[in-house]
Amino acid sequence: TRSTRPQRLLKAVRKRATRGDPQSVISAIDHFCRHSEWAMNVGDEKGSILDSVVSELNPEKVLELGTYCGYSTVRIARLLPPGARLITLEFNADYAAIARQVIAWAGLEDKIQLVEGASEDWIPRMKEHFGIETFDFVFLDHWKDRYLPDTKLMEDCGLLRKGTVLLADNVICPGVPDYLEYVRNSLSYNSCYFKSHLEYTKAEDGLEKSVFLG
Ligand code: SAM
Ligand code: MG
Repeated sequence: TRSTRPQRLLKAVRKRATRGDPQSVISAIDHFCRHSEWAMNVGDEKGSILDSVVSELNPEKVLELGTYCGYSTVRIARLLPPGARLITLEFNADYAAIARQVIAWAGLEDKIQLVEGASEDWIPRMKEHFGIETFDFVFLDHWKDRYLPDTKLMEDCGLLRKGTVLLADNVICPGVPDYLEYVRNSLSYNSCYFKSHLEYTKAEDGLEKSVFLG
């Protein structure tokens, strides 16, 4: 049977990227997605905005919602300080299996915990299961109808502290109107938009950065 897109993406990583070099893994995936097949990674253009937010925060506890093939996972983890931890959630077992290999190729297994399952099931178990007090940074990039309910769930579970930064991808394309309306109007957040383009295209998309004020 024909291979899947994630399998072909992994093959491109093995062919073009150097083991233990996260930047080469990122470049190999971007090259594959620009020249061979589009895939739903945050991509290089929005990725550089993601990089600046991560570098400025220097977070120690990071949560990512939606791993897919591990592109943004590698992108974030390569910038984390020693001892920092990134938990990434993915409910598709085939994608998770590919992501594990991409992460291993980048040599970042020590910083990353890939958890298989649905965000709505795992968010309430973060404290007991992973000993997390609160997250410093959360990257939201899973299915768009989950951004708002999962944000409220993280609030209710006490996973956000004053100063926690939420960064949401695809707020224009495909768009998350209910989430944007919530973070932009809630007195509990200070929110701003970073205009960019949908990964590997010229269509407008962007990231919304929202600081939780407690
Ligand atoms: N963040 C990745 C990147 O930029 O490289 C891309 C993630 S992709 C856009 C979204 C992923 O979220 C898919 O792989 C999907 O299976 C996963 N997903 C969607 N809803 C989820 C949920 N509720 N819990 C866990 N994973 C979910
Ligand atoms: Mg995205």
